Amino acid sequence: MSTLEIHDLQVSVKLPEGDLKPILAGVDLTVKSGETHAIMGPNGSGKSTLAYSIAGHPKYQITGGSVTLDGDDVLAMTVDERARAGLFLAMQYPVEVPGVSVANFLRTAKTAIDGEAPKLRTWAGDLRSAMEKLHMDPAFAQRNVNEGFSGGEKKRHEIMQLELLKPKMAILDETDSGLDIDALRIVSEGVNRVRETGETGLLLITHYTRILRYIKPDFVHVFVAGRIVQEGGPELAEELEAGGYERYVAARA
Ligand code: ADP
Ligand code: MG
Ligand code: MG
Repeated sequence: MSTLEIHDLQVSVKLPEGDLKPILAGVDLTVKSGETHAIMGPNGSGKSTLAYSIAGHPKYQITGGSVTLDGDDVLAMTVDERARAGLFLAMQYPVEVPGVSVANFLRTAKTAIDGEAPKLRTWAGDLRSAMEKLHMDPAFAQRNVNEGFSGGEKKRHEIMQLELLKPKMAILDETDSGLDIDALRIVSEGVNRVRETGETGLLLITHYTRILRYIKPDFVHVFVAGRIVQEGGPELAEELEAGGYERYVAARA
């Protein structure tokens, strides 16, 4: 059982001139293993900033608050330490890793996180089965990470990582963007398999409600202008589908 606890998190983005632009204005959120939380909000509200801050992206400066995983100070950890502690971030814009195949990348990541290399005998089978479940061609394992991947391939690759690395907490930023309806279903099924293990806490960040037709969140948080302005159960996603974010944005103006 794991708990990710975000308390009064305040974050600024470092601009190229060296100035700081405040983005997160005090975020409170607790996610436990087995729970699925959806963060929904308009473009530019700071959703990705929240994800990057938890992941330890150097462009974002923490100006206040705390993030802990099972009581350990996440913000004091290096990016590697965060991954080893069991945090997983699927980026809205995944990076290319030239010269490193998907198979090698996954094996290296698994080794780093578990502290020992996966057993050769079972690993090949696990990899194959993860790919089959996501309807991926076995040849995909030999391609270089994210090099020339289509939007759908990038997302499937992320879910493959999620299934194989078995993190304690996973943050999926706009996993639904750029997916056609079949890919969205396949990716959602993968997320639901991870969810059903009960061992991973999931934070789904999204702009649209459509992924929430396939993945039913336990909790929905509405995110506007760098903070959570409303919280509820899955019914809140349906309200947003009907009414959009307008009333939350207007209430702040
Ligand atoms: P969301 O994911 O909700 O669309 P973001 O976290 O990407 O929001 O962005 C929140 C705000 O911070 C936006 O106004 C965006 O322009 C600004 N921002 C984020 N990253 C940077 C950056 N690297 N440089 C300048 N502004 C940024
Ligand atoms: Mg955005
Ligand atoms: Mg974003």
